[in-house]
Amino acid sequence: MPKLTRKRKYLPELEERILYLEEANRWTLDALDMVVSLGDFKNSINPPNQEPAAIFSAARTQLKRLIPFKVLALFMIDETNSDFVLVDCEPETDSLMIEKEVDFQAAEGVFAWALYQSRAVTVPAKYYSHTVVFHPLVTRSQVIGMVVGILISDELAVNNVLSNLLSIILLNTARALENAILYKKINDTNRQLEDIVKKRTEALRKALEAANVMNIAKSQFLANMSHEIRTPINGIIGFTDLLLDAGLNGEQLSYVSTIKKSGDALLFLINDILDFSKVEAGHLKLENIDFDPEEVAYDVCNIIQPKISGKPIVLLCRIGDNLPSSVIGDPYRFRQVLLNLVENAAKFTETGEIELYLYEEDKQNKQVKLHAEVRDTGIGIPKNKLSIIFDSFRQVDCSSTRKYGGSGLGLSICKQLSKLMNGDVWAQSEAGEGSTFHFTAWLDESTRETLNEYPSLAGKRVLVACDNRANLDILSRMFESSGMLFTVIEKGEQLLPALISPDNNGNSFDFCLMDIRLTDINVSEIVDVIQTAKVRGIHLLLFGPLKERVILDQDTTGMISFVEAPVKRKKLMQIMEEVIKVPESRDGENILVNENGEYQHKLSHKGNFSLKILLAEDNVVNQNLVKILLNKAGHRVELASNGSEAIEKLSMTNGDFDLIFMDVQMPVMDGLEATKVIRDKGYRHIPIIAMTASAMEEDRAKCLKAGMDEYLAKPIRIEIVKKVIEKWALRKKNISS
Ligand code: ADP
Repeated sequence: MPKLTRKRKYLPELEERILYLEEANRWTLDALDMVVSLGDFKNSINPPNQEPAAIFSAARTQLKRLIPFKVLALFMIDETNSDFVLVDCEPETDSLMIEKEVDFQAAEGVFAWALYQSRAVTVPAKYYSHTVVFHPLVTRSQVIGMVVGILISDELAVNNVLSNLLSIILLNTARALENAILYKKINDTNRQLEDIVKKRTEALRKALEAANVMNIAKSQFLANMSHEIRTPINGIIGFTDLLLDAGLNGEQLSYVSTIKKSGDALLFLINDILDFSKVEAGHLKLENIDFDPEEVAYDVCNIIQPKISGKPIVLLCRIGDNLPSSVIGDPYRFRQVLLNLVENAAKFTETGEIELYLYEEDKQNKQVKLHAEVRDTGIGIPKNKLSIIFDSFRQVDCSSTRKYGGSGLGLSICKQLSKLMNGDVWAQSEAGEGSTFHFTAWLDESTRETLNEYPSLAGKRVLVACDNRANLDILSRMFESSGMLFTVIEKGEQLLPALISPDNNGNSFDFCLMDIRLTDINVSEIVDVIQTAKVRGIHLLLFGPLKERVILDQDTTGMISFVEAPVKRKKLMQIMEEVIKVPESRDGENILVNENGEYQHKLSHKGNFSLKILLAEDNVVNQNLVKILLNKAGHRVELASNGSEAIEKLSMTNGDFDLIFMDVQMPVMDGLEATKVIRDKGYRHIPIIAMTASAMEEDRAKCLKAGMDEYLAKPIRIEIVKKVIEKWALRKKNISS
């Protein structure tokens, strides 16, 4: 520890001089030693994460090596009120005394004066017997505190060298303190921020939880509402169907038709609102199953065809040559978009043509981009309204609501569905010029793709009679791609001569494909001619709206088939192949099933068979309705009003039923539970079809998971019920044969 004392003893002058020099030398060495250790000191106080007290404690050790202080205290500026506050004192017992001393010196103006000095200041103490040393703690920009020390004896003097060393130590101390303070501040701020983030996260989590609960409640409400509304609509639509068939007079027929139309409209609306809410709530999940897009396109046209039967409109379905025969995606939603667009076209077109054109636009990374164009010759849409029609509840103008009806939800749902399929929906149109709606969707490629090839038809000759250019174009492409030879006539009067006389090479036709709507033609006459021996060997294929199929009742030869317009490529080719392959089977068996479980068009129209059906349904109106519908179709029906009754009836008859229709929500035992029990009991071969008013996507999945084979959402439509019965009865027949 460096000490510098000058002992004034009365020694001879020389001896005194030597002693002084020795002492000075010792002090210099001590001071040098301290200076050398300054680097260590700096390192020890520099880590910013130190407490100010620890920094000052290190500084104090260093200061004491320089000057033996009796008391050493640190005052720091309190940021809140700018007061100097004692934060450290050694010995601690002197805290009060040193504060008193400082208060006194402050009152004398010494403290303030010392603050402005950037060095050590010494003054006589008031409360101590020895000198007080003040040294401000100053950083590069501001004063942060004051170090106050009391010397051990007045004999000690703080000379220039000491003062400089003191300043060096305290400058470093001040910087370290400032860093530590800043670090603490940053840390505090960080902690505060973390606290805030934690609190906000917690608040958000709670809000999310509440929103989820609301969402679940909303979905539940939607499901319940949908169920509750569908149940009575089922009664309305079903019994209206029956009434329409009950020989009403003209006026009654018109009233009942209105009820039916209103019921259908209501159902449509409910479906739209349900879908819209599901999309909004992000609940709509797409299926991923194999389907044939061509099949879907034709299905859509078949649904729309009857709706335009009163208008002079030709509905066309054009399938691109490159369209894959199988893709993976959601066939229901794909169909929903197409149906909406074609239905709109039918709604807003009075005369002319509606064409659905479906083709493959692109192919990438095992995905195909399908593009559907729905073109109509209807009222068109003004250019400035082309984008708003895709917003929810928006229509081109308000008066259209009155004239055409609708909710303005359809296109908005289409848009959202297309987005879910990574595609889009948009329109091109001008007022009065018709419209073309586009729909694109990316779907996965299917490994199940089958080739639409019909080798047995290559080289066969077809006479095509049709006066619609677009239709002719579509049919021609179909025959071309199958390698068939075809001749086209556009006038009815040319038909008979062409049919009767072979061409120059003596070839006659194998088929005549004729549009039943050809204007200048008498279909009955043609049918008569075909039935005479004159044109033996030519098979007549009529196409047109389904209701015209009655023409087949005149056929006694089995040489005439009917194909619903628009003509389905696959179906037409299959019928032609069938005709070529097994001509003798045509008037024998009523129903033939192809490998996909589809029944052949020509051969099924006379189909008639009776099944024993078990109907599990608790609602009396629905019981009556479905029973009447099934009885009318020639089936026998046993009723069960809940799941457990259904099981009982099955056990009593040892499972002697061809088919079970099963409601889901029933008292005592619901349909899902009942199905599981039935399957567990080993009745695996009986098809169980859900017939339920629960129309949410997950309901369908639940039914299938429980062991049901198919799912029908109410309201029940006789056409669909018939199709389902045919499908399952035939499948069964197929398996057993
Ligand atoms: P909705 O038909 O139920 O009103 P949409 O969302 O399907 O609802 O259609 C919104 C509006 O777009 C329709 O009301 C109609 O004004 C216009 N629109 C849609 N399709 C056509 C079309 N093919 N031709 C003319 N206008 C159309």
